[in-house]
Amino acid sequence: MNKSDSEWLAGTLAEEYDYTEDKTEADFLVVNTCAVRDKAEQKFFSLLGRLRPLKAANKNLVIGVAGCMAQEHGEAIVQSEPLVDIVFGTRAVDKAHILLRKFEETGRPQVDTAYGSDYDDFPVKRESALSAWVPIMRGCGNHCSYCIVPSTRGPEQSRPMENLLNEVSGLIAQGYREITLLGQNVNSYGVGLGDGVDFPGLLRQMDSIVGDARIRFVTSHPKDLSDSLIGAMTELERVCPAMHLPIQSGSDKILKLMRRGYTAGRYFDRVERLRERIPDISITSDVIVGFPGETDEDFEATFRAVQTARYDNIFLFKYSPRPNTPAADLPGHIPGKLAQERFDRVMILQKEVTAKRLADWIGRDVEVLVDGISKRDTQRLCGRTPQNIVVNFGSREDFTGRTVRVKIMRSGQFSLHGDILP
Ligand code: SAH
Ligand code: SF4
Repeated sequence: MNKSDSEWLAGTLAEEYDYTEDKTEADFLVVNTCAVRDKAEQKFFSLLGRLRPLKAANKNLVIGVAGCMAQEHGEAIVQSEPLVDIVFGTRAVDKAHILLRKFEETGRPQVDTAYGSDYDDFPVKRESALSAWVPIMRGCGNHCSYCIVPSTRGPEQSRPMENLLNEVSGLIAQGYREITLLGQNVNSYGVGLGDGVDFPGLLRQMDSIVGDARIRFVTSHPKDLSDSLIGAMTELERVCPAMHLPIQSGSDKILKLMRRGYTAGRYFDRVERLRERIPDISITSDVIVGFPGETDEDFEATFRAVQTARYDNIFLFKYSPRPNTPAADLPGHIPGKLAQERFDRVMILQKEVTAKRLADWIGRDVEVLVDGISKRDTQRLCGRTPQNIVVNFGSREDFTGRTVRVKIMRSGQFSLHGDILP
């Protein structure tokens, strides 16, 4: 979502300004921040320190802060960090150029953390010419007790289907080959739009207009994963067999404290159903260890859940208390050392599982959408399977942007290696 927001920001500024990746050349530099864990916030502060010499070298340099920390701290950022000139929240991205002009006119720091109401079309300057992020909704309507996102990204709001279909048709006409639909919980797409629009319905419409491009989506909340969505995924050819389905914990007690709205049993019922209907599906997950009150038994339940689920991969986190979230006030905070031990155990387990899951592909023919020349070896191309698994293979011809068939010969820790088929 942050990457997509950066593309939106670049699009907003594109009419009046030239874009540069070179920090020393820029006259306006924006840090797009994340607040989901304390570590992300710390990274922002250390980055800010590193920007100081740039400001000293270029008197005209304007520094802006965007994203969740901007939304969370607002005015406080310009007060405590004299280096920062402009702060704009998660829903004020389209006002960046206005704030910039105001700052230039007045010389006074500008802050805007208001929630705008329109949510349909916006200008986007995309990083890739092949794969496009398409936000279908913003904010979050859930209240997981540990999470700051509902307060930094605001209430859930879906984009009208017509805007989305227009945007995607345009992308396909420009040659995009992969569309990733974004939302904190795509399963609740359509709530509030009326007309009975829902996520499986949106997928059906998308499938009919994307030609042979791929459709992906993140994230699916397990409590709302319906049979109707599984049905749509089975039926629709362009929708990839991949599902990010964060379990967070394997303990029912902890899931309840997290306010996730499902039990481990219900979660595994969904996983079984997915695997039964879509045999080659890749399932990935988010897992939090060290949540307040997590006993050894609760942790073992999480460990076993990760073992049982055989995820293709996971994002693993140590619980981080966030301001103004209910979990921060729960009793039984877990000491850092114990949380780290639990983290390391799950990490080692998942590494083994990922390696085994990758090895299962050896000997199979897979369809690869080619992203480009491999970074490590210019004689090889790099692409991804419908499951979003990275495949490297040798080729004399550059097939970037095309789909080829590859026979998998060996697997590594993170990717597959194969030979292109005629
Ligand atoms: N909307 C998505 C997740 C967005 S945040 C979903 O519900 O799946 C991405 C991940 O960060 C979460 O799934 C969770 O695993 C992790 N996370 C969020 N808040 C956290 C916190 N306070 N401490 C540790 N991990 C957290
Ligand atoms: Fe956070 Fe839960 Fe919303 Fe995901 S669904 S963004 S974890 S509150």
